[in-house]
Amino acid sequence: MKAVAVFPGTHEVRVIDEPQPQVIRGTEVLLRMREVGICGTDREVAAFEYGEPPPGEDHLIIGHEALAEVVAVGPEVTKLRPGDLVIPSVRRPCLHAECLACRSGRQDFCVTGDFRERGIKQTHGFLTESTVEDEANLTLVPPDLADVAVLTEPLTIAAKAMQQVKTLQQRLPWEPSRQRSVVLGAGPVGLLGAMTMVANNFETHVYSMESGDSDRADLVRSFGAGYICSQDCAPEDLGKRLGNIDLIYEAVGSSHLAFTALESLGPNGLFIFTGIPPLGGPSPLPADQLMRNIVLENQLIFGTVNASRSAYALALRLLGQCMALFPDSVRRIITAHRTIDEAPGMLRKRSGIKEVVRLS
Ligand SMILES: [Zn+2]
Ligand SMILES: [Zn+2]
Repeated sequence: MKAVAVFPGTHEVRVIDEPQPQVIRGTEVLLRMREVGICGTDREVAAFEYGEPPPGEDHLIIGHEALAEVVAVGPEVTKLRPGDLVIPSVRRPCLHAECLACRSGRQDFCVTGDFRERGIKQTHGFLTESTVEDEANLTLVPPDLADVAVLTEPLTIAAKAMQQVKTLQQRLPWEPSRQRSVVLGAGPVGLLGAMTMVANNFETHVYSMESGDSDRADLVRSFGAGYICSQDCAPEDLGKRLGNIDLIYEAVGSSHLAFTALESLGPNGLFIFTGIPPLGGPSPLPADQLMRNIVLENQLIFGTVNASRSAYALALRLLGQCMALFPDSVRRIITAHRTIDEAPGMLRKRSGIKEVVRLS
């Protein structure tokens, strides 16, 4: 069986031959992988900036954005049967008794940091022809979403963020249809975030570096969002250009851009961070003005990392909504399907929006 692995000791990224996995525990499911999406995290793991093999092993099988088909089920599996399509979740809980989040199935809020993540941290991932996973970590995919369901895992970022927005804004009188949102960045996370805002009836604008007549800008407009090229407007002027901004969703991983854009957030506004910037030196910020705004305008700033099992169900529902509203735009996010033998090259060089490895 083929799989794609990274070897931190020798800095190799290659296709390997692994033994076929077997169902051992009664609640386990044998999966044939159909598609695996590649993202920035995978490229960081493949560049050895991040990622860790299982204890005692010299390699990590990569891949966490997966769509799989059930091939066989253990005797205690109750909801899944062969032929079902499923999305596996990525993060597994830590083992500490005092971690209330992990003990409650909310390992996305783990406090110890000793969680494991398939394809990223101490557990093999999904860029392989077959794998075994516990039924509790699998979410059933409606068959009509099969061609885009590989986007579910990256969409959990926006699904979880939107769930938190709705909870947090119960602090004041609030209606989605009166909200204006700006998404910073037009990569896969930004585009899926913008689609989520549009599907939730927010007036939505995407702010990114591609020109206004680029394919990326055209894709943004195709699902009903506005597009602003960063050459045409400084981030701190976004409020002057658009009017009051109720929500900013950061998806670029640039702290300077993010905190500059924070100046343009309006009263009672939310600022959501999803990007992870590389660590650099200190940079100057208008901290007094930002703090005055945060206090005098009841602003909330939070970060979000994916995702709990519930966010996968939310993301699949959201994907269904997006496919009902703008199916061609959703399909345009997936820019290439490639073979497993092409995967090591894809991990070295980025092209298009979302590249997907097709395994079966
Ligand atoms: Zn990813
Ligand atoms: Zn934990």
